[in-house]
Amino acid sequence: MKKYDLIVIGMGPAGMVAVGMGTKLGLNVLGIEMKSIGGECLNVGCIPSKAMLKIAQMKYNTDILSDFGLKLNGNVEVVNPLETVRKHVSSQTGESLNKKFSKADLLLEKGSATFVDEHTVEVDGIKYHGDLIFIATGTHPMIPPIEGLSDVPYLTNVNVFSLKEIPNRLTIIGGGAIGVEMAQAFSRLGSKVTIVHMGKHLVPSEDSEAAAVLEESFSKEGIVFYNDESVESVSKESNEFFIKTTKGTFVSDQLLVATGRKPYLDSLNLDAAGVRYDKEHINVDEFNRTNVSHIYAVGDINGKWLLTHAAMHQAMLSLMQAMSQKESKMLNRSNYVVPRAIFTNPEIAQVGLSENEAKKEGLEFFVVKVKYETYARAATTGSLVGFVKVITDDEGTVHGATIVGEQASEMISEWTLAMQHNLKMMDILMTQHAFPSLSLLNRNVAEKWMMTQVTKGNLASLLG
Ligand SMILES: Cc1cc2nc3c(=O)[nH]c(=O)nc-3n(C[C@H](O)[C@H](O)[C@H](O)COP(=O)(O)OP(=O)(O)OC[C@H]3O[C@@H](n4cnc5c(N)ncnc54)[C@H](O)[C@@H]3O)c2cc1C
Repeated sequence: MKKYDLIVIGMGPAGMVAVGMGTKLGLNVLGIEMKSIGGECLNVGCIPSKAMLKIAQMKYNTDILSDFGLKLNGNVEVVNPLETVRKHVSSQTGESLNKKFSKADLLLEKGSATFVDEHTVEVDGIKYHGDLIFIATGTHPMIPPIEGLSDVPYLTNVNVFSLKEIPNRLTIIGGGAIGVEMAQAFSRLGSKVTIVHMGKHLVPSEDSEAAAVLEESFSKEGIVFYNDESVESVSKESNEFFIKTTKGTFVSDQLLVATGRKPYLDSLNLDAAGVRYDKEHINVDEFNRTNVSHIYAVGDINGKWLLTHAAMHQAMLSLMQAMSQKESKMLNRSNYVVPRAIFTNPEIAQVGLSENEAKKEGLEFFVVKVKYETYARAATTGSLVGFVKVITDDEGTVHGATIVGEQASEMISEWTLAMQHNLKMMDILMTQHAFPSLSLLNRNVAEKWMMTQVTKGNLASLLG
């Protein structure tokens, strides 16, 4: 049996980091991927969705030219945006990506890996020994038990980017991050989009005020959404889907299901290795270590975050921990903050506590909020929509930040840095921001906080 220092099962963002870093550390590494290197993110997730949103944004910009004193002579025709997306994605995946891992042994598209015992993994009838094993198998789309759904050719993120053309009418079940990104991309490229969503508002994990800003933008753009609504049944006749809800039956040319994620657990045979898991994820400790000390579970499969950057971070730290056997505080998962973003226009980004979460936790806090429209750069470049909102206190501690608006996904990094390193509002204020960058809005929040402290008579304590 061939023996390895490290076996990595699944080569999405988490697995790629583990394989790449493992070989740099001089380990003898086997990487196993049953589909394509890059995982959901590169092949059918983050990257194609953002490529499509970019094209959709370009098309939308031509629709609003008159707001900027410009006029197009002739039409902008939507020709083959999805083919362009596929071309861009394939330039980053496939052979070119495989080559980056030339120092490792790779088993690609040979089938799924299955545990035989706690040190042995089998692929395609052949057994491999691993001293250390990283499980990074991620998730796949969760399909809800809706009557008739399994009988119709619905889309998920796995096949939506393979469409040959933009459908005239698209119904999306689910208004979470994936649902809203796809809704705006397809709508701006010409689809009449309807979202049927069970939550009280779109993007239910996000701050409700930020979600309201997104909903207003969607309404203006003609994206129809039904919150608090579930689909009763689905059927297909000729080329049309019929989606039955209490609000009536929607007729559509394509149906996209974006109702959540399910872990890739079944084929792993974790019982053979004695690894504990439940229906949602593999159980891990704060170092992403399973109950079997040489087996780690990193990325989406441990159910903590379902975000690419978190998956990569976990893989890096867990490998450092596994190699050093040093349980450093820095490596402990509860000691790092995780930002997230939804890449619609306006974008929504969050780190730490939202206002609703801070209330639920009974935290003593107040909110400092600055609207984009108060800043000349934003107002004069058509980025009027949105706000930066920070959950803070008289000490200037940053408990959380919500940004909705242009470049929110970039601007959230500053608050992430602040939270990670215990920087306070005065630290943000004392950091100069290039004028007129949008990130100056972050500094304006800190200035507003400082003014509240001055009003409260705390000037002397601010000067340190
Ligand atoms: C449409 C969409 C958009 C997204 N956008 C963003 C975004 O903008 N930002 C963000 O941070 N996140 C985004 N995500 C989430 C992101 O894709 C995931 O968090 C990320 O891919 C998780 O990485 P991972 O390595 O844990 O798992 P995955 O990327 O899921 O990779 C796991 C790999 O393991 C393989 N595998 C599974 N079981 C086995 C087995 N038994 N044997 C061998 N191989 C196996 C799978 O084939 C897969 O390639 C998006 C997801 C989707 C679907």
